[in-house]
Amino acid sequence: MSDANDVRASSKTDAVIHKQASPACPPNLADYDAVRAGFSWDAARARLDGLPDGGLNIAYEALDRHARGPRAGRTALRWLGLDGSRRALTYAELLSASCRFAHALATLGVQPGERVFVLTGRVVELYVAVLGAFRAGCTVCPLFSAFGPEPIATRMELGDARVLVTTSALYRRKVAGIRERLPGLRHVILTDGKGDEDDCHAWREVVERAPDAYTLVATRPEDIALLHFTSGTTGRPKGALHAHQAVVTHHLTGHYVLDLHDEDVFWCTADPGWVTGMSYGIIAPLTCGVTNVVVEAEFDAATWYGVLEQEQVSVWYTAPTAIRMLMKLGQEALADYDFKHLRFMASVGEPLNPEAVVWGNEAFGMPFHDNWWQTETGGIMIANYAALDVKPGSMGRPLPGIEAAIVARREDGGVDVIAEPDREGELALKKGWPSMMRDYLNEHERYERCFAGDWYLTGDLARQDADGYFWFVGRADDVIKSAGHLIGPFEVESALMEHPAVAEVGVIGIPDPVAGEQVKAFVALKPGHEPSLELNRALLGHARKRLGAAVAPKTIEFRTNLPKTRSGKIMRRLLKARELGLPEGDLSTLESDEQ
Ligand code: ATP
Ligand code: MG
Repeated sequence: MSDANDVRASSKTDAVIHKQASPACPPNLADYDAVRAGFSWDAARARLDGLPDGGLNIAYEALDRHARGPRAGRTALRWLGLDGSRRALTYAELLSASCRFAHALATLGVQPGERVFVLTGRVVELYVAVLGAFRAGCTVCPLFSAFGPEPIATRMELGDARVLVTTSALYRRKVAGIRERLPGLRHVILTDGKGDEDDCHAWREVVERAPDAYTLVATRPEDIALLHFTSGTTGRPKGALHAHQAVVTHHLTGHYVLDLHDEDVFWCTADPGWVTGMSYGIIAPLTCGVTNVVVEAEFDAATWYGVLEQEQVSVWYTAPTAIRMLMKLGQEALADYDFKHLRFMASVGEPLNPEAVVWGNEAFGMPFHDNWWQTETGGIMIANYAALDVKPGSMGRPLPGIEAAIVARREDGGVDVIAEPDREGELALKKGWPSMMRDYLNEHERYERCFAGDWYLTGDLARQDADGYFWFVGRADDVIKSAGHLIGPFEVESALMEHPAVAEVGVIGIPDPVAGEQVKAFVALKPGHEPSLELNRALLGHARKRLGAAVAPKTIEFRTNLPKTRSGKIMRRLLKARELGLPEGDLSTLESDEQ
């Protein structure tokens, strides 16, 4: 890939974004190298309160320790409803609401260790139920509310759901018809129920009337707190199990990566149906004691800019798909807003194109800080930090406490660490961090296969530069082998993204008798641009100039939209299956399906 490296060096997006010290708000991680050198997980754990005799409970760290101290009256949750209504709950109020929910579970006979599923939009009851279930020692499994009945049934069957919290409308449309497939489901609690539905409880009856005095179940750090299904980008979603101990990572990354300070107003745009919306839309901000903004509405540029301005959001955590949609509308769309409170922006979920980092810097006066992690890692593992320079296109450097390496798998099942900089290989993490998954649900062998000796193998390809920054190359499944070159789709996508007409790109390899595979790009255009032969040629020319002939796509096809998972990831495997007429595989998490 030397061609590509050379061109990379001449790209305008290669400019490093240097950080200036902000005396008003010194970063929590001011000296990365010093903190890394002196780091211990025991010390990180000591940042939390813990329970007597070494116990640990996520809800205690998120609520009790604030609600019983000076933060009791601070707004924990600021909820903005679809209809324009608003609700604010202080730490003390959210604690007592979650106690009621835990009490309700106990009254219903639900035991610690049993699984509580949540299927709602981003309503206040979701947050209360999740935190209440942690208190009760139950395992929480959030489901994305836009799932159809089949993905819901499969996940609840697999996860042996004991309790479901949902709304009347979702219950009628999606759950009633599958309920007989779920004999283990003993209780359904309807957040807006009136109490007269068959076989369901009304929140108003069982939760609101419950007392708020509730002794927390003294969970151990290794007790399972969460079951999260992966996004299904590469195949059938896996169920990753996480322990209460994950809260150590959540808190630490809230502090060091998202740089949460006491007075911050934080907004994570991810839905708690996915791991980001749980780890960073609920747990991390609350353990850090900040005000957490929750927006019920789906993406819309004007709504989002309005929230950032009016709610005086200071730290914003979002995703590349959303950023690309904002970029599509141009800088004019944010000209009328004043984001003077905003001081830190971060992104996760997919590779963030360098173009997007640079755009953030121009539009908001600060870069998006890309960070990398997976459902399996439970929390942020590699990140760009407030105090460190940002290299657009790089995922940044490992969290203190995390050892990351580029490795090559050996035939005998072991791995070799590739110490030399700028070499591509699989991204691996030294196992043992607190939020590492504890198993895949019902797939223990698959879990075992993720490890080689002390290393957890991520299935993502990356490289590390001489300054220690990691660069995403692609998922191992998506990497293209063409005429002896290994081509990461991200690199090709990012080069095309630089063209002013391009809004979004998905790149795949298609079989070629000579080259093995050849690169094909699917491109969605920005408003005001129409597909044409001329534009097709211009894009091919641009890519060839940027990447060199060996790496540039041979063909480009225009699409109105690219298929994405509901968590916002481009499904390259689906582009490929459709292109080659192969079976489409698991589509339970597919969102936009326009061809
Ligand atoms: P599945 O495992 O079911 O195929 P998934 O891997 O998309 O789905 P998630 O755990 O939600 O499920 O996503 C983690 C993956 O997302 C990472 O392994 C990586 O491929 C991608 N990813 C996340 N953040 C970044 C990032 N900052 N840069 C590049 N890729 C990222
Ligand atoms: Mg994955």
